[in-house]
Amino acid sequence: ADQNGETLVPTHCCFCGVQCGMYLRVDRGGKVFGVEPRNHDINRMRLCPKGINAYQQVNHPDRLTAPLMRRSRDEELREVSWDEALDYTVSEIKRIQRDHGRDAFGVLGGASLFSEKTYLVGKFARVALKTRHVDYNGRLCMVSAAGANKLAFNIDRAGNPFSDILLTDCLLLAGANVGECFPVLTQYVWGARDRGATLIVIDPRETAVARTADIHVALKSGTDSAFFNAVLHVIIEEGLTDEAYLAAHTTGWEEVKANVAQYPPSRAAEICGIPADQVVQVARAFARAPKAMAFHARGIEHHTQGVENCLTVINLCAATGHIGKPGAGYGTLTGQGNGQGGREHGQKADLLPGGRSILNEEHRRQICEIWGIEESELPAAGTSMMEMVWQMQRQEIRGLIGICNNPFVSLPNYAVVKEGYDTTEFHAQFDFFLSETAANAHVVFPVTIWAEDEGVMANAEARVVKHNKAQEPPSGVRTDTWVMCEIARRLGAGDKFAFASSRDVFDELRRASAGTIIDYSGITYERLEETGGIAWPCPSTDHPGTPRLFEDGTTYHADGKIHMQVVEWHPPADPYDDEHPMTLTTGRTVAHFLSGNQTRRLGALVEQTPRPWAEVHPSHGFRNGEPVRVVTRRGREVFPALVTEAIRPDTVFIPYHWPVPTAANALTIDALDPRSKIPEYKVCACRIEHAGAI
Ligand code: SF4
Repeated sequence: ADQNGETLVPTHCCFCGVQCGMYLRVDRGGKVFGVEPRNHDINRMRLCPKGINAYQQVNHPDRLTAPLMRRSRDEELREVSWDEALDYTVSEIKRIQRDHGRDAFGVLGGASLFSEKTYLVGKFARVALKTRHVDYNGRLCMVSAAGANKLAFNIDRAGNPFSDILLTDCLLLAGANVGECFPVLTQYVWGARDRGATLIVIDPRETAVARTADIHVALKSGTDSAFFNAVLHVIIEEGLTDEAYLAAHTTGWEEVKANVAQYPPSRAAEICGIPADQVVQVARAFARAPKAMAFHARGIEHHTQGVENCLTVINLCAATGHIGKPGAGYGTLTGQGNGQGGREHGQKADLLPGGRSILNEEHRRQICEIWGIEESELPAAGTSMMEMVWQMQRQEIRGLIGICNNPFVSLPNYAVVKEGYDTTEFHAQFDFFLSETAANAHVVFPVTIWAEDEGVMANAEARVVKHNKAQEPPSGVRTDTWVMCEIARRLGAGDKFAFASSRDVFDELRRASAGTIIDYSGITYERLEETGGIAWPCPSTDHPGTPRLFEDGTTYHADGKIHMQVVEWHPPADPYDDEHPMTLTTGRTVAHFLSGNQTRRLGALVEQTPRPWAEVHPSHGFRNGEPVRVVTRRGREVFPALVTEAIRPDTVFIPYHWPVPTAANALTIDALDPRSKIPEYKVCACRIEHAGAI
C-alpha cells in the first residue's frame, strides 16, 4: 500500500483475447476505483478504451446484489433470499428432468469465464445435472478456427506468440478488424509494418488496419475460400511453393493442388468482386516473403463454410512453408478474453477436459476416473448453442441455466431466440448485471465480476495468464463456482463438487488435462505470477511452456504432418434476389464488447459510441445520420446512416452490441456451419430503404 493506503493489484483486462496486463487500483477501504498501466510483455503499458474503463463495472450501481426470482413470466422479478432462489431452481430441475428426462434441461456457459469456471460448467452439466446438453457462447466466436486447427494440425491453438509478428516480412490479416476488436495488438501489426513488413488485409471494409495496408482486398463477404484458393492457384502457377516443405511435412497436397486449378484469378475476381490483379499481388507478396504470417478472425470464421475458409488459409501457409518459425506461422485472434481457454476444459458439447472427445471411449474412461463416476453415467455429446435454442422452441429442452452469456443480443435471428427462451418452462441466469437475457429469466443469480475472484484465462496465443482478486464481492453476491457447487450439492452430487475456491478447481483441472495435448499439469498459480504467463502444452512444473508450435516441423497428428484439405467455395446460405440484392455484414466497434451488457453501462464508452449505425456507401444517396431501414428475410430495423467510401457499394455494415429495436442480430440468419455450428453472422441478403424520421 502507498501512503494513502491504496494498493495496486496486478491482473489482466477482462475483455478481449489479447489479455493485456493492468493494475487495478484499490482504495484503503478495499474497493476497486481505478486502473494503472502495467508493463506486461503482452501490452507494454498500453490499454484500449475498453481496458481503461473496465474497472468502472466493478462497483457500478447496476450491479446485481441479491437473487431475483419469479414463478411466471407475467410477474415482475423480485429480490429473494439465496435459499429461496436455489430451492426453486433445484425443484424445477428435478421436476423437468423427472417429467421429460435428464436431457430436457440444458446449460449454456461462456468464454469470458475463468478456465476454472468453464471446467466446472462442463462437469456441473454432466455430473450434477447428468444432461448431455451443455455448450457455450464460444460457439459464436472461434469454433470454426478450432475445427480447422484440429483437422490440419490436431491441435487447437495459434502456432506463434504475438511477438513473432514483429519478426515477419509479410503479415496477412483476413477478416480481422484488429484496430477495433484487438486494439492493443495494433502495436505488433504496425510495429511489423514499420520494420518493413508487407501488410495485406482481406476485409470488405476499409478498417483502420486496412487503411494502412500495402494491399487491401475488399472482397465481397462470403467469398473468402474462393479468394484463398485462387491465391494458391497463382502461387503454384508461378512456381512459388515450397516443395521441400510440402514433401516432408504435409499430406493431401496433390488433391489440394488439383482443386485450386479450378480457381484462376479471373474466377476469384468474378466471385469476390475484386480486380484479378489483387489475387496475383497477394500471392507474390505472401509466397516470396522470407517469413510470412497469416492471422484470421471472425470475418472469415462467421460463415456456413467457416471451417473451410480457415483451412484455405492454412493451405497457403503450408504450401509456402510459412509454419513454425520465428516470424512465420498461422493463428486466429480470439474475441473473448478466454475464447481460447473457454473451449479447452469441457464446456463445449463435444469435448471433455483436456480437449478430449466425448465420443472417444478411452477419453470418456479417463474423465470418468477423474470425476469418480461410472462410464455409463457420463452423458453423450450434446448439441451446439443455436441448436439448443431450436430445441427450446420445440420443447425438447424445457429448462436452462445460462452462465455468463447474453443470447438475446449475441445470437442471430432474435425472433427465434426470444421464442426459444419464452418457451422454456424454467430459465435461470448467472450475471453481475441484468442483461437482456437475464431480464427474461425466472431466476437471476448475482455473481462475482472478474475482479472479485482469481483464476486463469488463455489468450489468443494460448498463453495462460493469472487474474487476481482485487476486492471482496458485495454482500449478497457469490462466485459462479459457489452457485454451481451449491446447486450440485442440493441435487445430491455434493461430494463431486467440494470446491472451496478457484485454486481447488484449478488443481483438478490440471490433473484432468495431464497427458493430453492441452496439458496444464506444469502450470501453477505461482508460476503464472512469476512468469507473466505460460503457453500450453506444459507437462511439468519445470517445463517452460510452448510459445511456438511445429518448430521441428511436426504437428500433433500421429503422422506428424499437416493434413491439407480440399475446399470448394459455396455461396452463403441466404440467397440474393431482387428484394434482397445487398449483403448485410456485422461486427464490433472499439468502444463496446460483444453483447454490450458490460460496456453499454460505462459512461466514457457510451459517450464515445452511444448507438449503432448502418454503414452505407455514398452511391445509395443517404446523408450522414439520415435514417436507413435495413430489411432482411427475418426483420427490418432502422439505423442512422454512416455514409462512407470505406465500404463496398453492395454491402451494409451494422455493429451488433445493442438489443432490439436496433439489434443487428434481429436481421442476421441462424444458418450454421455444418462442421463447427458457428452462425453465419458475416453475410446475409438484405435491402436498404429511406425510412423517414427515426
Ligand atoms: Fe482489454 Fe483487449 Fe483492449 Fe487489451 S486490447 S485493453 S485485452 S479489450
